[in-house]
Amino acid sequence: MPLRALLILLLLTLPRALAQGLPELGDASQAGFTPAQERRIGESIMREIRADRSYLDDPEAAEYLSNLGHRLAARSPDARQGFEFFLLRDPQINAFALPGGYIGVNTGLLLAAQSESEVASVLAHEIAHVTQRHIARMLAQQQQASVGTLAAFAAALLLSRVSGQAAEAAAAFGTAAGIQSQLNFTRENERDADRVGLQILDQAGFDPQAMQVFFERLQRATRVYEGGAPSYLRTHPLTFERIADIQNRMQAMSYRQVPDSIEFQLVRAKLRAEFEAPRDGIAYFERSLAERKFLSEAASRYGLVASLLRARDYPRARAELDTLRKLVPANAMVDTLTCEFGLQALGPQKTLPCFQEALKMYPSYRALVYGYPDALLRAGQPGEALKFVEGRMQAVSDDYRLYLLQARAYGALGRRLAQHRAQAEAYVRMGNVTAAVEQLQIGLKNGDGDFFQLSSAEARLRELRKLDAELRRDSGKR
Ligand SMILES: [Zn+2]
Repeated sequence: MPLRALLILLLLTLPRALAQGLPELGDASQAGFTPAQERRIGESIMREIRADRSYLDDPEAAEYLSNLGHRLAARSPDARQGFEFFLLRDPQINAFALPGGYIGVNTGLLLAAQSESEVASVLAHEIAHVTQRHIARMLAQQQQASVGTLAAFAAALLLSRVSGQAAEAAAAFGTAAGIQSQLNFTRENERDADRVGLQILDQAGFDPQAMQVFFERLQRATRVYEGGAPSYLRTHPLTFERIADIQNRMQAMSYRQVPDSIEFQLVRAKLRAEFEAPRDGIAYFERSLAERKFLSEAASRYGLVASLLRARDYPRARAELDTLRKLVPANAMVDTLTCEFGLQALGPQKTLPCFQEALKMYPSYRALVYGYPDALLRAGQPGEALKFVEGRMQAVSDDYRLYLLQARAYGALGRRLAQHRAQAEAYVRMGNVTAAVEQLQIGLKNGDGDFFQLSSAEARLRELRKLDAELRRDSGKR
C-alpha cells in the first residue's frame, strides 16, 4: 500500500541506526519479536503520535473508526491480536500499520472515500499486515535492534512524513538498490495483505469490489499528491499488477450492494465542518443541500449545523437542528450535537437535561460521557461531576479523559493532593510518565490529604519513578 512508506523508510534506516551503536535488546533477530515486545515498540511510537498535533483526539470520530476497525478485526484469521485504530489530521490519503496492532488512518482517506466499504477495504488490508505478521517479520530481520531505536526512528519518520517532510527524510537515507530489494520484499507482503484483507472485507459484510475501486482512486490521487516524491514512491508497490490480482480474486466473490452507515456520513460531515473555516463550511453544506449533491442529506444538515455553531449563528443553527432531528430521529451523534448546541447557545446549566436524556439512550457513548461531567463542572456542580466520573471509572480504567475530568472536579472541590494525583494518572495514560511524576511531587509538597492518601500517593510516586527510568533506558539516546 502507499501506506507502507513508513515501514519502508523504517527498514531502510535501521542499519544506520544500528551503526550508531544505540542500546541493544539482545538477539531478537534469532527468536523474533514476542507480541509483548512488538506491543512495546508500538506503544512507544504511539506516545510520540499522541503528543503530536496531527493526532486527532475527537471521541466521536475515534469511536466510529474503532467500531469499524474492530468489526473487521473480528473476522481476521488471528482473533487474539489486539488492535487500536486512530486518526491523524492529514489531508493526504493514507493509512498504515505499526508494530503491535496500532493502525493509523489519515482524515484525508476518510474524506476521499466514496463509500464505507472503501475505508473498510483499506483497514482490512492493514489488519492483514498485522495478523499475517508482516511487520513482526520485517522487524525481526533487523539484527539486534533495540526496541527504543526502532521506535525512535519509526516515530521520527512517521512524524516527518505527517508534517510533509517525507522527501527530506527519504533523501537522507537509502540507495536505489536497497529500495528496490525492499520493494520486492514488500510486494509479496502487499499481495498477501490484499488476499487476506479481501477475505476479511467479504466476511465482515462489506462490498469486496470497493478494494479495487479505492486502490484505483488512490493511484490517481498518488499521482497528484506525490509529484515531487522520492523514488521509492514512484516505484511504489501499488501497481497495475496488484490491481489485476485483486480483480482476479474478486471474480470468485459475489457483488453486493452495501449501504453506508449513517455514522460514516456524519463523521465525514463533522470532520469537514471542523477543517473548513466556519464561513466556508456553511457555504459548502448550503450548496450541497441546494443542489442536492450529497451522499446523505442528514450528513449535509449535520455539517451545516456544526458549521453554524462554529460561526455562532445560533438562531439558524437551532432551525437547522430541528430539521436534522426530524430526518434522523435516534442517533448518538445528532443527540451530542444537540447538547453541544445547548452548551453554546443556552449555557451549561440549561443543557444538563439534554445530556441526561441522551445518556439514557447511549450510556457509554464517549462524547456524552465526557460532555456531561464537563457541563456539570461548568455549571458549578463539581460534586455531581466527580460522582459521575468515578462511576464511569469503575468500568473503564485506562481513559485519560476521565482522569482529567476527575482532576478538574477535585480542583474545584479544593482537594489538592487528589487533584494532582488524578492529573498524574491522566499523564500516565497519555504516555507522559515524567509529567506524572512531577504532578505527584507537587501534590505531595503542597498537598492536603490524610495519612492513607499520602502514603498511597508516595507508593505511586515510587512506582512511576521506576517506570520513568525504564522508559528512558528503553528509548536510548533519543
Ligand atoms: Zn500494504
